[in-house]
Amino acid sequence: MVEFKDVSVTYSSGVDALNSINLKINDGDFAFVVGPSGAGKSTLIKLILKEIDATSGTVLVNGFNLSKLKRRKIPKLRRTIGVVFQDFRLIPTMTVYENIAFVLRVIDAPAKYIKSRVPYVISLVGLSHKAKSYPTELSGGEQQRVALARALVNDPQLIIADEPTGNIDPALSYEIVGLLKGINECGTTILMVTHEHDLVRSFGGRIININKGNIAFDEFIGGSNESK
Ligand code: ADP
Repeated sequence: MVEFKDVSVTYSSGVDALNSINLKINDGDFAFVVGPSGAGKSTLIKLILKEIDATSGTVLVNGFNLSKLKRRKIPKLRRTIGVVFQDFRLIPTMTVYENIAFVLRVIDAPAKYIKSRVPYVISLVGLSHKAKSYPTELSGGEQQRVALARALVNDPQLIIADEPTGNIDPALSYEIVGLLKGINECGTTILMVTHEHDLVRSFGGRIININKGNIAFDEFIGGSNESK
């Protein structure tokens, strides 16, 4: 669950990036966040991950009140969130399997669990046949599917996808959003930032439109192609 109550962010430069935002994303929701460059979308995501703090207001994420969260507890918050970036951020010297297993190794997950969990999430994104490949041997769409599996492996409550289709073929973008929708249907909350209006129109759902640090609208639209 993500809740913003009267949240404002003013950067030290004096720029007001968010102006008294109120927003609630319930467990199990799927929401697109759209808006022009400079609107405040990245600021919103940085707040959720506690990379920055709100200048005023309250941010609640997965049961944590972020203004009260001690620095040493930040990793605990972040373990409840999986993040997918526009530029994939895979480790080039590691195979698909190793990139994903790494996430569990750093939190000292038992070896037996890693051995069963990693192949499972790789199969969820349809890449079992590429488990031993390196990122450079994969297409952009495949690399993003690996990043998605990596975001999923720790079974997070929330997945934040920050322009996940920005660097891949438009046709494959539908595949990535389709996978995110499938993950959402299994109960994970998804917040996806995107510039791609065609994609949003096609899938439909909750659209949170941010403009100049304000929520311009927050509503549900029907998709033009619900079957995708
Ligand atoms: P978006 O992700 O929608 O493009 P951002 O959240 O990155 O928008 O930016 C919102 C506003 O805050 C913009 O005016 C941007 O220039 C400003 N901004 C973003 N990051 C910083 C920063 N670290 N310091 C100062 N101003 C910033």
